[in-house]
Amino acid sequence: MATRAAFFHSSSLPRTILLPFFHRQTGLRTSIFCFKQLSSTPRFSSTSKPSTVVVHSQAKRGSLFKEGEVASPSDLHFEAPLKIVEYPDPILRAKSKRIDTFDENLKKLVDEMFDVMYKTDGIGLSAPQVGINVQLMVFNPVGERGEGEEIVLVNPRVNKYSKKMVLFNEGCLSFPRIYADVERPESVKIDARDINGARFTVNLSGLPARVFQHEFDHLQGILFFDRMTEEVLDSIRGDLQALENKYEDKTGLPSPERIETRKRKKVAVGFGKS
Ligand SMILES: [Zn+2]
Repeated sequence: MATRAAFFHSSSLPRTILLPFFHRQTGLRTSIFCFKQLSSTPRFSSTSKPSTVVVHSQAKRGSLFKEGEVASPSDLHFEAPLKIVEYPDPILRAKSKRIDTFDENLKKLVDEMFDVMYKTDGIGLSAPQVGINVQLMVFNPVGERGEGEEIVLVNPRVNKYSKKMVLFNEGCLSFPRIYADVERPESVKIDARDINGARFTVNLSGLPARVFQHEFDHLQGILFFDRMTEEVLDSIRGDLQALENKYEDKTGLPSPERIETRKRKKVAVGFGKS
């Protein structure tokens, strides 16, 4: 997400944001709020399914994430400095693979992702947004290096969404200068691995829950406008078309998707109801 999101509708969010995560570099627990270690359950095994994550648009395209697909070293290859991939680049819709190697290369990638996130005034960034289709996201709701907390989530899964939904004015680094309201659950319960591969589960609410859900969508190939109402979408339709034109001018290729030919849907993508 882009920084400006942090300053919109913030009155509806808790003032105190507790971030119960491991610190990126030290691996130390920095907050114990709602935090607990996972025991060695088969939750991440190849036979388990993310049954509570219902993503209709993905299912229709036949690209629902499968647990078994693991990123190879070439999937994780990158060159610094990273560049932000903008809509409508098909990378943003591609399948992102699971990470099972927690090595120096992954740590370097995470460092580079934080670098580009801060440089572009972001508060969250997913790997597909820098051209790497793996299940990895970084965020820092404060958006300033050395402030707040740097959070790294590898292979995240949502266990539970709150029934309570909230509106929030979101931005996205892949959609420069575009901001619009998106409704999402107020809180989520998630499982993930940290940068060292340790499993954990955590409850998020407020801004961290918002940033997480936005970035989690990127890992499923879902973009924030997929979740906007038609009325809200109308307010940014011209901006999306401008990005599509920019892509065509830059690449010489037809835009892989067009907002003007997008079918009107009452519910573009769903949330699990567990
Ligand atoms: Zn985004």
